[in-house]
Order: sequence, then C-alpha cells, then structure tokens
Amino acid sequence: MSELSEKKGRGTELISLYIPPKKALHEVIAALRDEYGTASNIKSDSTRNHVMDALVKTMQRLKLYKATPENGLVIFCGALPTNGPGSETIFLYEVFPPKPVQTYLYRCDDHFHLDILKDMLKEEKTIGLLSIDATEAAVGIIAGSRFEVVDEITSGVSGKHRAGGQSARRFERLREMELTEYYHRVARHVNKALLEEKTVQGLIVGGPGGTKDTFLKGEFLDYRLRRIVLAVFDTSYAGREGLRELVDKAADVLQDVRLIEEKKLVNRFLREVNTSNGLAAYSVKDVLDALQKGSAETVLVSEDLEWLHMKAVCSKCGFTREVNVPRVNYIQEKQRLLSTPCDNCGSLEYEVSEMDFIEYLEDQANISSANVEVISSRSEEGAMLKSFGGVAALLRYKV
Ligand SMILES: [Zn+2]
Repeated sequence: MSELSEKKGRGTELISLYIPPKKALHEVIAALRDEYGTASNIKSDSTRNHVMDALVKTMQRLKLYKATPENGLVIFCGALPTNGPGSETIFLYEVFPPKPVQTYLYRCDDHFHLDILKDMLKEEKTIGLLSIDATEAAVGIIAGSRFEVVDEITSGVSGKHRAGGQSARRFERLREMELTEYYHRVARHVNKALLEEKTVQGLIVGGPGGTKDTFLKGEFLDYRLRRIVLAVFDTSYAGREGLRELVDKAADVLQDVRLIEEKKLVNRFLREVNTSNGLAAYSVKDVLDALQKGSAETVLVSEDLEWLHMKAVCSKCGFTREVNVPRVNYIQEKQRLLSTPCDNCGSLEYEVSEMDFIEYLEDQANISSANVEVISSRSEEGAMLKSFGGVAALLRYKV
C-alpha cells in the first residue's frame, strides 16, 4: 500500500477504479470503453498510449470475472517506470477490499487514489497481541478472522543462574539492566507495529510467569496502548507459540467486549427514551423515517428480527411499491402486492423481490452515513430491545 502511494505517473495516466458489489461488471467495462474513446484525444503520445494500454489491461482483467466479487473490487492500473524514464511498463494491482465498496469511482490522475481503500482498511476492528517472557517476545494482530505474526524479538538476556566466580549482586544488577533494555526494545517494536503501521482497538498480553506483569507495570509501552489492554493471560509459552495460545483466548475476550458495547448502546437508548424529547426512536416505521431524514446516528437492531423488505415493480410502467413485513407474513403480503392494481397505470403485472430487512437497513444507513449495530439476544439489554420491537435508533437531533 505505502509502496503504491509513492508511485507517480509521468502525466495524467494512472487509473484508480472502485467497483461496488452491486455494480455489474459489463456496465463498468462499457464505461471504460467510453473512456478509451475519450483517451484517443489526449495530445501527448506517451500519455495517450499509456492510458489506452492501462484501460485495455483493466478491461481484460474484468472480463476474467463471472460476477462482481462479494465486497466489490478495487483496481489500480498504469504505466510505471521499472528502471528510469522510458522504461515504463503497465502494472495492475487488484485489491479485494475487507468490506463492501460504497460508491463507484473511476479516476485517471498523476497518482493513485488510495484514500478510500486506506479508510476501509483502517476501520476494520484490529486487536494487537503481545506474548512475552524474559527470553523472547512476539507481536501479532487479529483483524476480523485473520491472524498474523507481525514481529519477533529475542532478549539475549542471560539466564537466572550466574557463572561460577561472579558476584551475586553484580550478576543481578547486570541482569536487571539487560532486562530493562530488552523491555524498552520490545516496547519500541510493539509501538511501531500497533500504532504506526496499524491502528488497533485493543491489546491482549500474555506469557508464562511474571515478566508480562513487570513489563506492563513498568509503563514501557506507549500510553495509547496501555489504556486499551483488554486482558492479560498466563500462557505456557512466549513468542510465536504464545501468540497462538492468545488467539484461542482472544475469541472469548472479544465476545465479552462486544457484549459490553451492546449493553452500553441499548442503555443509552433506554435513557433517551425515558427522557422527554430524548434523542431516540423505535419501531420499523420511525427508524426508517429517521434514516431517510438523516437524523439517525446509530441504528440498533435485534439479531432475531425476522423481517423482510419487499419490493413490487410494475412491469408496465416501473412504478415501485415497497413494504417491510414480518417474515411469517411473506406469502400473504406477496398475494396482496400482486392483487393490488398499480397506483400509476392500474396494471396487475409485478416483479416482486425481497431482501432481509437488516440488510435493507444497512443500505439505508449507508446513504446517510449512520451505523447499524446488530444486538445479540444473549443479554438482558438484548431482550429489552426486543420489547421495543427489535429496532431502535439513537438520533443526532430531534426531528
Ligand atoms: Zn404501472
């Protein structure tokens, strides 16, 4: 990534393409074909050739896909020098983003447009792991379901037993100094891996014996990491092996952390609801209304909300009717939609489609940059949310 951001084209000839999951690839190819036509008017021979070559390469790549990938696709393509000016070759970088691309973007510029992708990578929840004892340490990262060992450090500190003839006090003092130097070194590596190169939301620390506690108490780590320590575990090993043990334990910690977040959200909603003029809304209708007006900041939806969003499009005139109904009413509602004449042209021919209501909420929320938080039913708060119909919103302002 950082390697790409330094790349510069000689002219306006580097292509950035962001394709959302719902965009059909043949439409994208058609749009690129238009760009190809426009590019033939570029005055500079070298820029024109580079842009046209990059467009051809991008179209060829897109044709390899049967459909748009699940999260969409991001492509960077352009002529980059391999060995000084004149040595340009067309490179193509293809990225499968960690979450869905929101908006279609095509840019031809003297640099690649990486900001959108960078934001997407940053927003993914990332947890740092540190496994340490007096001999070795390792730093790891959990991002979604991926686990990666990022760095390993060995201490070089001598064992606890001194060589014959050495004074006990002198030996202890030396060992102490070596350890302190090692802790500083570990801290530098951890700070670099978890603060400079990634943004982590939590840190889990483990290792055999007391080294990890001494390390944490000694405040060697950057304060931003110290205040997000989620848990400290005893493990049998330190280093790479210890990290694997921490990954197993982390799953429980993360579940607990999520549960606490959910409780906080629901309690905030309950407080608002119990205040006159509080910043809250509930029921399917009022929450959708708040989303459409842009006043919803966070939507809370129960994981068991079994609703559907249904859409009937008139085959004659395209007039669209949308309804949200409990899943159990699906057949009944479909009949009703099919037997009601089109408001616009009176026709009775419809194309009916449906999607999960939570997915529909997420789409609506994206439009007004609101968050959707799916609340599990495991907690008392989850049950409270259900008693409010399973869907609620925290508002930015009262409408
Ligand atoms: Zn109609």
